Amino acid sequence: MDKRWAAGERQRVEVAIAGGGLTGLALAAALGRAGARLALVEQAPLASLVEPEHDGRVTAVARGSQRFLASIGAWPAIAADAEPILEILVGEAGSPLGVRYDHREVGAEPLGWIVPNRTLRLALQGAIAELPDLEVLAPARIAGVEPGSGALGITLADGRTLEAELLAVCEGRLSPTRELLGIADRRFDYRELAIVCTLRHERPHRGRAVERFFPDGPFAVLPMRGCRSSIVWALEAEKAARMRDLDDRDFAAEVEERFGDLLGGIELEGRRHYYPLVLVEAERVVAPRVALVGDAARGIHPIAGQGWNLALRDVAALAEVVEERLGLGLDPGDPAALDRYAAWRSFDGLALVSICHGIERLFSNDLEPLKVLRNLGLGLVERLPPAKRFFMRHAMGLLGELPRSMRDPLRAPASEPVGLFPARSVQGGFSTGPRFRS
Ligand SMILES: Cc1cc2nc3c(=O)[nH]c(=O)nc-3n(C[C@H](O)[C@H](O)[C@H](O)COP(=O)(O)OP(=O)(O)OC[C@H]3O[C@@H](n4cnc5c(N)ncnc54)[C@H](O)[C@@H]3O)c2cc1C
Repeated sequence: MDKRWAAGERQRVEVAIAGGGLTGLALAAALGRAGARLALVEQAPLASLVEPEHDGRVTAVARGSQRFLASIGAWPAIAADAEPILEILVGEAGSPLGVRYDHREVGAEPLGWIVPNRTLRLALQGAIAELPDLEVLAPARIAGVEPGSGALGITLADGRTLEAELLAVCEGRLSPTRELLGIADRRFDYRELAIVCTLRHERPHRGRAVERFFPDGPFAVLPMRGCRSSIVWALEAEKAARMRDLDDRDFAAEVEERFGDLLGGIELEGRRHYYPLVLVEAERVVAPRVALVGDAARGIHPIAGQGWNLALRDVAALAEVVEERLGLGLDPGDPAALDRYAAWRSFDGLALVSICHGIERLFSNDLEPLKVLRNLGLGLVERLPPAKRFFMRHAMGLLGELPRSMRDPLRAPASEPVGLFPARSVQGGFSTGPRFRS
């Protein structure tokens, strides 16, 4: 659009997507494949978002998310860089109790995959590159949004304008367009920084991810391709600032002190990255002709590696709603479409905000009664196979009302039971358990 779009000319699209991060790109790819006319507005040049230094994180991609990425044609470009997660160990530092999640308890496939964010961005940028009806406006920012007849009027900061039947805001947790639209949010500052870096180590990780809770923050080691792992170390801001001052050797020694020598000798690969941790939850996820998607709807603590998986469930649900309406010749941004999206995403969003915030609060202190309580909890989960399987399937993104693109095309029903035990069938008696479980 940049080249063809003359000043003063007003473009009309079915969906305008604000934000070209992981969420905006995934939505553009899904809607583009469904044949929607689209504009993507991103404040940074797209090429700058895939520079190696831009994002040092990896993402734990759940199985439901992997299915979605395959459905939009992005997975083949990701697979070679995706390390399967075969086992997850969760426990409190200094305690012998903990939970061991083994993928074999829920089926043959891995629990998820660890993928560098740069690989995800490259694959998603590749997936939108050939879409015939997508105009990428980058760098560009939204400066104004006005209601219009059957569409919103959107003015960009450089004076250009467009009309969109639906505006999907994917600008991340501090979204300026959300603010411009007057949608309030609730925030909680954890006063922590997540330190993220890649380690090379002597011994193989065998697909094992480890999360240890320390009173000053959780520490996760995530398996990557080769003898490499990514660290996500959420640490009280003051301590994190002190870590920042350490050189690589002293920092590696601090890591070894927390993690032990499970992986043999370690050394850092590349530089360390720091991310301030703030929970931001929008008061509502829709407004007239507007849907908030991903972190713009709620940005959660990375303690359970669920933020983008949650975002992709927004993306897949919104794409399904829009595709259905366009297929019927209906307006993709009318109240019926937005109500459906908001209702579909409300429980999942609320649940993940509460779970991740709750876990962070429960484990981020040294109070003796709470210590006893959480160790009892971990010990109980370890000894209750149904509870364990439930948590695994939840983390794999396989529970609740899944969008079509996230379901197992061969086996999964439209919705899976959210409880710990198989649901009763309509006729009474237990439903055939295995149909709902892998
Ligand atoms: C340390 C850490 C580890 C994590 N690990 C995991 C994990 O293992 N698994 C998982 O599922 N999730 C994880 N997450 C969460 C995940 O990274 C986020 O959920 C995800 O990046 C959100 O993507 P997004 O596109 O919604 O937002 P963002 O990544 O914030 O992208 C927003 C985009 O919008 C653009 N933008 C902003 N404002 C404007 C504007 N006004 N105009 C135009 N463009 C604009 C930005 O430039 C950016 O490109 C982690 C998060 C952190 C901090």
